[in-house]
Amino acid sequence: MNTHTLIDGKAAAARVLVQVRKDVDRLREQAIQPALAVILVGGDPASQVYVRNKILRAEEVGIRSVEHRLTTDTSTEQLLNLIASLNADRSIHGILLQLPLPAHIDELRALQAIDPDKDVDGFHSENVGGLSQGRAVLAPCTPSGCLYLLEQTCGDLRGKHAVVIGRSNIVGKPMAALLLQADCSVTVLHSRSPNPQALCRQADIVIAAVGRPRLIDASWLKPGAVVIDVGINRIDDDGRSRLVGDVDFDSALTQVAAITPVPGGVGPMTIAFLMKNTVTAALNQHQAQRSQSEAVCHSIY
Ligand code: NAP
Repeated sequence: MNTHTLIDGKAAAARVLVQVRKDVDRLREQAIQPALAVILVGGDPASQVYVRNKILRAEEVGIRSVEHRLTTDTSTEQLLNLIASLNADRSIHGILLQLPLPAHIDELRALQAIDPDKDVDGFHSENVGGLSQGRAVLAPCTPSGCLYLLEQTCGDLRGKHAVVIGRSNIVGKPMAALLLQADCSVTVLHSRSPNPQALCRQADIVIAAVGRPRLIDASWLKPGAVVIDVGINRIDDDGRSRLVGDVDFDSALTQVAAITPVPGGVGPMTIAFLMKNTVTAALNQHQAQRSQSEAVCHSIY
């Protein structure tokens, strides 16, 4: 029988959050209270759950959270005004704009309006560009969490062939950039890739970020592959609603060396890395303010 490791995202996220808590305590000793502003526009039920979980987790690690709930009919201009005021507020270190936004709002304009230093989701083009140049930036939370799980599971990733299935701006593309930085050879598959199974079967590491329930079964996987399933899909299973990933978990188990479950795999890592990014943003902003005031002192004397 094939032996495999179940990659425990809850336990890994808990380890990340212990470190975040220590970092928050150190910042508080310097009279810096890390703070995250969360903006939710409209009443999308899934978004409300995500926002509630993010705020709860922030409280647990000592990050101050400020929630801004806007009605569905909020205009792009009104949202931009709120973002501008949060950008200017020195007591706020991270700004999270919960997606998706109502269709009438210009999502790109709103994301680009967030100060890149406070862009804890890593979606601003300055952070996206920095990531593709290999600079240290606020990187998107879900791919950062996946990379952490891979490093914990595989150790050295250098030279491994990673196949990323999906090329979204939120998951697939930044995931590919992070894996390249980790010296993997990276293949990115999408809906126009011919014969994706054959390409995927060559992978040491598979990241599935497709949004198609159980698309990837054993026939896509080489024996001993490590699989990270980003997908979260709600399905009706004999009249019972439940969450499944993009990977057919039971089928994949016959091939893999290690795999994340859904739920309990990547999901908890996303929130943990949001907290980590908020603390990083607070530290960066504090250091930038300190060097600014030192520069002013030098120019005076
Ligand atoms: P998305 O924006 O819809 O992108 C899906 C990608 O999959 C697209 O690039 C698409 O290709 C590709 N694709 C679709 N069908 C395919 C097929 N048959 N073969 C190969 N590629 C195919 O989705 P996303 O935002 O990246 O999210 C992906 C999944 O991850 C969703 O289930 C989402 O709920 C989940 N998610 C989970 C977390 C978490 O915290 N765990 C966070 C974010 C997202 P084209 O570009 O050609 O259309």
